[in-house]
Amino acid sequence: MFATLSDRLTSTFKNLRTKGRLSEADIDATVREIRRALLDADVAVPVVRAFTGAVRERALSVEVSGALNPAQQVVKIVNDELVAILGGENRPLRLAKNPPSVIMLAGLQGAGKTTLAGKLALHLREQGHTPLLVAADLQRPNAVTQLQIVGERAGVPVFAPHPGNQGHGEVDPGFGDPVGVAREGLAAAKARQHDVLIVDTAGRLGVDAELMAQAADIRDAVQPDEILFVIDAMIGQDAVATAQAFAEGVDFTGVVLSKLDGDARGGAALSVASVTGRPILYASTGEKLTDFEVFHPDRMASRILD
Ligand code: GDP
Repeated sequence: MFATLSDRLTSTFKNLRTKGRLSEADIDATVREIRRALLDADVAVPVVRAFTGAVRERALSVEVSGALNPAQQVVKIVNDELVAILGGENRPLRLAKNPPSVIMLAGLQGAGKTTLAGKLALHLREQGHTPLLVAADLQRPNAVTQLQIVGERAGVPVFAPHPGNQGHGEVDPGFGDPVGVAREGLAAAKARQHDVLIVDTAGRLGVDAELMAQAADIRDAVQPDEILFVIDAMIGQDAVATAQAFAEGVDFTGVVLSKLDGDARGGAALSVASVTGRPILYASTGEKLTDFEVFHPDRMASRILD
């Protein structure tokens, strides 16, 4: 992901390398190229506007400094502004003072929530936590089974409804009461002394009111310390509108970018933190449980500018 954006920005900077000092016209030409590169990569328009405005202003006021040539100074400014739109610095997962901490996952169907649930469970287990996964996605017939599979791979138990149906993939879609399951999962976590509860919730193909209401009901029932919105970076420009809908609908506290291993342009996903004002905590980079990273805005910015 970001290969094209990366190439475009790099070639923009290359054109500056021969310049001894930058005129206002040079800066404007550079900013125009950066704007085009960002728009072509699907970065949201308001984010591009703010970004290029900040780059232009800072580039114009740069002092001629001995340490960095003009091209390097522009690269540094662009890097700083990229870090800023990606949220500044990593925001660690918020855990409760009194366990169990509750982490709820939300997002569209296919975003990668269930996979992420397994990844996060494994990551937390490796840090010495004792997570419990809760299968509160009762819309898709296979969602419970799928969570049980990732739970097993992560070595983390799964609290699932309807014990009789477990593991057979024969669960009827829409069965049961996801809010009740989430609530019972929380009680089970307390009783069995798990220190983190990860609640997987149902997604739909598009944002809809019923889905939002259900997610909000689950949220109210389990009072999460963290609501992570999982967004598929491959969905392109829809990412921003979807993120805004979930920000209003469930008031998520953090973002997980999934499928960053894909070859989409990716800029819309990069805009999500800036547009919603919520930090990106993690990135998902493949189908394996270990394809998972704590998100560091500075590392992502250097990856794009390398
Ligand atoms: P959910 O509907 O939101 O629970 O999404 P799933 O976790 O079921 O993921 C949907 C599909 O995307 C599955 O085939 C996953 O294997 C795949 N997937 C999830 N995360 C990633 C990722 O980071 N990279 C890639 N390439 N595929 C992913």
